[in-house]
Amino acid sequence: MKFLKSEEYIPFSPPSIGREEEALVLDALRSGWITTGPKTAEFEKRIAEYVGVSHSVATFSCTDAMHIALKALGIGPGDEVVTSTFTFASSAHVIAYCGATPVLADVDPETFNVTAETLAAKLTKRTKAVLPVHYAGHPCDMDPILELAREHGLHVVEDAAHALGASYKGRKVGTIGDVTAYSFYATKNLTTAEGGMAVTENEELAACMRRLTMYGISDSREIWNKRYRKAGSIHYDVAELGSKCNMTDINAALGLAQLGKFGKTQETRKGFYSLYDEYFDGNDLFVTPTVKEYAGHAWHLYPLQLNLEALTMDRDTFVDELKALNVGTSVLFTPLHQMSLYGSRPEISYEDYPVANDLFERVLCLPLSPALGEERIRKAAETVLHLADRCRR
Ligand SMILES: *Cc1c(COP(=O)(O)O)cnc(C)c1O
Repeated sequence: MKFLKSEEYIPFSPPSIGREEEALVLDALRSGWITTGPKTAEFEKRIAEYVGVSHSVATFSCTDAMHIALKALGIGPGDEVVTSTFTFASSAHVIAYCGATPVLADVDPETFNVTAETLAAKLTKRTKAVLPVHYAGHPCDMDPILELAREHGLHVVEDAAHALGASYKGRKVGTIGDVTAYSFYATKNLTTAEGGMAVTENEELAACMRRLTMYGISDSREIWNKRYRKAGSIHYDVAELGSKCNMTDINAALGLAQLGKFGKTQETRKGFYSLYDEYFDGNDLFVTPTVKEYAGHAWHLYPLQLNLEALTMDRDTFVDELKALNVGTSVLFTPLHQMSLYGSRPEISYEDYPVANDLFERVLCLPLSPALGEERIRKAAETVLHLADRCRR
């Protein structure tokens, strides 16, 4: 079969930005208040309503949201927090930022997610919290994880960077653990360019996290209401060592526009996901992603596994060849125990993570952005199929 490569490069994850975003950002720019203010407050309120949670704190990033969550929960030196090895570096970094020790757990081969069992294997007397990651937008099996946390008195902070819109047994992710953190980074399923949010049912935690986004100033949000207005007081107090990781109104404006069409873009992602399933299901060269019966998926990533035993090419070569054929993919993630920062720790050994090691050798994530349109998604799928057929053993 003659092989046609895509004429244009199909990028892995371009953002879907339209007139709504342009209009709201312009509105913020012209409003006279460009940093944290009314648009940020509105975006927090709208995300909280969407998730069905009482409190939300907008941040500069998901990394910051997780960091201030752990801080607010009192995680510090001497503590251990267990997270997934199959995640982005920041899930572990935030634990180290607190002076605590990041402990990495292996994952389940079907969902790429940590489970109560893989977390339990890493608990010690010093464990204070677990930080499950909802990989690709597929929720972790949370009931057993919550049970484990209850048994051992652990906090649960969820990395939902991929999981805005996901649910578990009908409950929205964001209403389950103590704090849940979302990412609105440029490649995520809702973007503010850079941005994040921590959500919680706990009012005190929310207030603490809010202070931590602005240096620890006790009435930080009052700045917008009062300080630079006529009614403002010139005095303020700082009682704790906070960060500076608030969201600006310019970013929040992007988020409001994105949230307005989120239902639609999620439907598109879901459609693309099913399309890929149609192309790859039942093909012996691939393993398609599993969606468990308890999962309401957020359709953030389509992690396709190569059946390496049936192919003459390894994953890295496959990805390079795809790129040469104008299809951009991404390998998410290099397991953290394989990164020198974490892998060089004496307590971490490669052999402890057989599932993550195996998945990492096989996985590549296909383009899924609504901005690409169905034709490019089909082209990407067909290119993957053709390439795999060409290197069948
Ligand atoms: C993107 C990502 C993050 C970090 O999000 P930022 O908003 O860039 O800080 C954290 N965890 C996972 C799993 C991610 O994919």
